[in-house]
Amino acid sequence: MTSVTLKPGRVPTLKYSEMDRGIIIIGGGPSGLSTALHLQRIAPHLTHRILILEKERYPRFKLCAGGLTVDAEIILEHLRLDVGEVPHVFANDIHFDFESKGLSIRIPKQHVLRVIRRDEFDNWLAEKARSRGIEIREGISVKNIIPNQNGVTIETDQGIFHAQAIVGADGSNGITRHTIFPNAPLYTARVLEVITPEYNVIARGTKPDEPISIFNKDTRNDMQSREMAAYFDFFPVPNNIAGYVWDFPTQIKGEAMRCWGIYDTNLLAGEKRPQLKEPLAKEMSRLGFDLNDYEIKGHPIRWFSPENQMSAAKVLLVGDAVGADPIFGEGISIALGYGAIAARELSESFQRGEFSFRRYKRRVMGSALGQTLIARWIIAYIVYPLKWRWFQILLWRFLKPIVILIAWVFVLNWSRRIR
Ligand SMILES: Cc1cc2nc3c(=O)[nH]c(=O)nc-3n(C[C@H](O)[C@H](O)[C@H](O)COP(=O)(O)OP(=O)(O)OC[C@H]3O[C@@H](n4cnc5c(N)ncnc54)[C@H](O)[C@@H]3O)c2cc1C
Repeated sequence: MTSVTLKPGRVPTLKYSEMDRGIIIIGGGPSGLSTALHLQRIAPHLTHRILILEKERYPRFKLCAGGLTVDAEIILEHLRLDVGEVPHVFANDIHFDFESKGLSIRIPKQHVLRVIRRDEFDNWLAEKARSRGIEIREGISVKNIIPNQNGVTIETDQGIFHAQAIVGADGSNGITRHTIFPNAPLYTARVLEVITPEYNVIARGTKPDEPISIFNKDTRNDMQSREMAAYFDFFPVPNNIAGYVWDFPTQIKGEAMRCWGIYDTNLLAGEKRPQLKEPLAKEMSRLGFDLNDYEIKGHPIRWFSPENQMSAAKVLLVGDAVGADPIFGEGISIALGYGAIAARELSESFQRGEFSFRRYKRRVMGSALGQTLIARWIIAYIVYPLKWRWFQILLWRFLKPIVILIAWVFVLNWSRRIR
């Protein structure tokens, strides 16, 4: 490695001028780390040619509710990783409601959702990648990407890197997609998230002289029964919010907490759109929480559409850079799944010595991941635009067998068919 100085006077010291890296992965979230781990597994001889550039330092904050579906767990098992090592809580049942009533799903003797914190999960995954010989450089922010005849030049705040091919794993707002496809259509959801104490802390009252319970018996019972459950309530849909309010159990540094939020695909964006805060505040207040007491954070989620571009010559996209699940904004299992497919594409491209990635989109769309994403995209276009109250009540309260069948066949369990 040699040091260079670029544009003297403007860029003071550049640490790296890295020639001839095989693959540079931009972003060390689940999609980037999964791509590296899968590639290491199927083509171990390429391990020393992989470099991940991550702009933050682990354990870094990532706004996310941290709900891991069974598919995320299956992909991690395929990688021989035990996600049980990461601090977590379980949701033993999951509710899909409209105005607090709807259907619930429970799997006998098994959790339905494992909830992790992303700082801990991503840090753990990065450590696993490092322990398998994958190099990750933290604190390096990619600023520009220039594909050329010999490969790709990557300009960062720490210097210039060159690679034969790059993987854009830099999330919903990533530089890779912005640079390579500046005019691509945007399908982006708006999302807000809030962390609060557990129900019982609120029910107990926070001041010593407060009565043991400041809520009536029905509210207390409701609170107790919700503790181990994850809730999705679609009540904002008739008000042009094409999404739901969620309420999950979670933990922070071992302390039981709740994670709340609201997701809006923006599918009804052409119509009058109310503020996202209002319905979230309404649902929290129903359960004894005042939204104004907590810090609200927001981040967009780019969701999958069959229109989305996924590759250009020498450049592959994975994870949110391509698109997450449009119905729920679920993206961790999806990011892990993209990693498995991108690794196959990369391994074959290295064998051929050819990096057009022309067939990558076909490979994604034809895979079990592509099939679930297409199914979810179709379902999102049915469930949200049919926004009438009566339809939402019918769907979530009366069509339970149909909803569960569709979820089981088209939405979940796709990862078993990914290797
Ligand atoms: C509020 C909220 C709640 C969510 N809840 C859930 C949930 O419960 N379950 C679920 O499955 N999904 C959830 N998601 C979606 C999930 O967080 C994403 O789908 C997932 O993080 C995508 O992973 P990724 O690796 O593609 O991108 P990211 O996790 O965003 O990782 C991208 C990485 O790239 C790095 N990076 C970005 N730019 C650069 C650069 N220029 N140079 C170098 N590095 C860079 C970032 O620092 C980051 O580490 C939620 C999202 C939000 C916003």
